Amino acid sequence: MNLHDLQALDRAHHLHPFTDFKALGEEGSRIITRAEGVYIHDSEGNGILDGMAGLWCVNLGYGREELVAAATRQLRELPYYNNFFKTTHPPAVRLAEKLCQLAPEHVNHVFFTGSGSEANDTVLRMVRRYWALKGKPEKQWIISRENAYHGSTVAGMSLGGMAPMHAQGGPLVPGISHVRQPYWFGEGRDQSPKAFGRACAAAIEARILELGEDNVAAFIAEPVQGAGGAIMPPASYWPAVKEVLAKYDMLLVVDEVICGFGRLGEWFGSQYYDLEPDLMPIAKGLSSGYLPIGGVLLGDRVAETLIEEGGEFFHGFTYSGHPACAAVALKNLEIMQAEGVVERVRDDLGPYLAERWGELTEHPLVGEARSLGLMGALELVADKASGRRFDKRLAAGNLCRDLCFASGLVMRSVGDTMIIAPPLVITREQIDELVALARRALDETATRLAEIQQQ
Ligand code: PMP
Repeated sequence: MNLHDLQALDRAHHLHPFTDFKALGEEGSRIITRAEGVYIHDSEGNGILDGMAGLWCVNLGYGREELVAAATRQLRELPYYNNFFKTTHPPAVRLAEKLCQLAPEHVNHVFFTGSGSEANDTVLRMVRRYWALKGKPEKQWIISRENAYHGSTVAGMSLGGMAPMHAQGGPLVPGISHVRQPYWFGEGRDQSPKAFGRACAAAIEARILELGEDNVAAFIAEPVQGAGGAIMPPASYWPAVKEVLAKYDMLLVVDEVICGFGRLGEWFGSQYYDLEPDLMPIAKGLSSGYLPIGGVLLGDRVAETLIEEGGEFFHGFTYSGHPACAAVALKNLEIMQAEGVVERVRDDLGPYLAERWGELTEHPLVGEARSLGLMGALELVADKASGRRFDKRLAAGNLCRDLCFASGLVMRSVGDTMIIAPPLVITREQIDELVALARRALDETATRLAEIQQQ
């Protein structure tokens, strides 16, 4: 079937996630047919460096035969059985053990789901159940942050702080309150990063007091906001948040769906920021995206309460701990360990990306270039000195993203913030290529914007 037939069928029958259905129908979608290493290939034979590792998930890169073999073996032996009603199977048990070895010391249990959104739905139910079991059912409020992303299910998007999603969603899950995000470049440049980070932590405390400590169940956050724009908080933020949370009787939920499995150069973002979460939703890099699987890692105080006092927990998914997904995830983690992938991000690739990516600060369009581990962002600005943004109608970020794609690099735009999160197996040479392609796209974006503004 040729490209045009596929595009026509796509237009006729397929509604894509996070997409303006009508606009895409008019444009036609790009069809990705295969991938190898850090490159995806489209139906026209173009190779494109995947600077986003799919959707922040293909940590081991494409074409890993060991993962294919693990899936095939498991599908042959036991393609499906569930973990309901007192049964289980070897891959789920072995993956649970492996995850608890890798997780922080106080984390010794996992509940499997099919995705990150389901993981956050599970979090919401576990948080409420925990406090009910503790005899404090009035502790219902969960504090989250504006511009956070925690998934697309009703609970996921309610926990998240994406204004456009809330605007389309109808009534949200009640009992979720959002505070300001630690986005210094976007919202804090009238203060030093240090003061701004502390102010954002103080906003959490103010909200706790406003809602009443007795009514507050938990605080949820991504270590680094991913979908919001690869927002690394100021260094003062997490220490100050920890201080605040230590004063109150509440749970900490750290959403590791993006930061988990090596993205920041530690197994978990919680380890990078020295956090002790009670609950950690995980997904994406857990299986390098080869098969869908997520879960919630539980710290001992929540796990023990649910186990010892909870009776039956009426919650679970048909695909909780799916055997083939679990087998692939286990193999994925084994390979990451054997190849020292996380250590390489921490000691070599992360610092190298920081150096090379940092050079883009000099570009006239770039107000800030930041990175941590193998996650990076560029802030596009109309005026470097003041940091003034482009007129929204120019959609500079989308323009830059499209030019990037056309020249062979996947870089995502969030408004006028350009973001990358390449596979963790990228080489130094490929980082050089990524930076060169990004620079070229920035040049082209500058030229096009100048042309448009002159018209
Ligand atoms: N949490 C975070 C931090 C995420 O980035 C995402 C996905 N981008 C999710 C949850 C939701 O995961 P999924 O798309 O697998 O449901």
